[in-house]
Amino acid sequence: MANIGDAFRHSFHYLLFPFVCLSLFLYFLLSHFHLDQWRKRSDKKWNHLLVVSAHPDDESMFFAPSILHFRRKKKNISILCLSTGNYYHLGSQRKLELVNSCNILGIPEKNVKIIDDSCFADDPSRIWNEELVARTILQHIGNINPDVVLTFDQFGITGHNNHISVYSGCRKILQEGRVPNGVTFMTLETTSLLRKYISFLDIPLSITLASNFYIAPLADVICAQRAMVLHWTQLTWYRTLYIIFSRYMLINTVTVLQPPVAENVLR
Ligand SMILES: [Zn+2]
Repeated sequence: MANIGDAFRHSFHYLLFPFVCLSLFLYFLLSHFHLDQWRKRSDKKWNHLLVVSAHPDDESMFFAPSILHFRRKKKNISILCLSTGNYYHLGSQRKLELVNSCNILGIPEKNVKIIDDSCFADDPSRIWNEELVARTILQHIGNINPDVVLTFDQFGITGHNNHISVYSGCRKILQEGRVPNGVTFMTLETTSLLRKYISFLDIPLSITLASNFYIAPLADVICAQRAMVLHWTQLTWYRTLYIIFSRYMLINTVTVLQPPVAENVLR
C-alpha cells in the first residue's frame, strides 16, 4: 500500500502538479493578454459573425468563447437557431431564454432569429432534411450578410442528430458551390469525452492540435456561465456540472470548412 501511495505522490508532484501549473499559465497568458489568435489571419477582416445553432442554449453551452471574442472586437454577431427546443413542450419559454441569454452575451434581440417549424423538430432521433437546412441558412445569410458562419462539426459536440443536421446542411452548401461571395464557414471542433470535461487542463492539447482557437478570459467565462444559467428550464444537475467543468465554456477550437477535395479538382 505504501508503494502505491508513494507512486501516487510521485506522479502528483512530478506530472500532475506541473501540468496543472502549465495549463493555468497558458490560460492566463493566452486569454488575458489576448494572445489566443496568434495563428489566425483571416478573422481580422471579419465584421459579422453568424452562429447557426440547433437549440436555444447551444449558443452559451458551446459557442460562447467565439461569440465573446467577436464581442470584444466590437464585431456584429447574429444567431440563427433552427428550432425552439420544444422536445419537452417548453418551446415558447425557451425562445425567451435564448433572447435573454443572447442579451448577456451582447447580442441584441433583433439579431436573434429562431425558426419555429415542424420540419426542424427538437428531437435527438430526428435527422433534419439537409436541403431544407441549407436553404434556411442561405436565406438568412441573404437577409443579414454575415462574412463568417460558425456551426457544429460532423460530430455535433454531443452527437445530437439535430446538431449534426445543421453541419450537414452547411456541408451541402459547400459541396454544391452555393456559398455566397465573401462568406466563410467554420465548424466548432468536437473533442473526446475526457477532453470535454477537463476545463482549462485541455488548453495545452487544444493549442497544440488546433490552428484556430478562442480562449475566453475569466470575465467572459463568468459571462458565458450567467448566459447558460438563464436557460433555467435546462438546468439539470448534469448541466450544472457541465457549466463548471466543460472546456467549451472557455475554449473553442474551430476549423474553416473547405469544399470537398473532389470538387476542387474538378474546378
Ligand atoms: Zn443543442
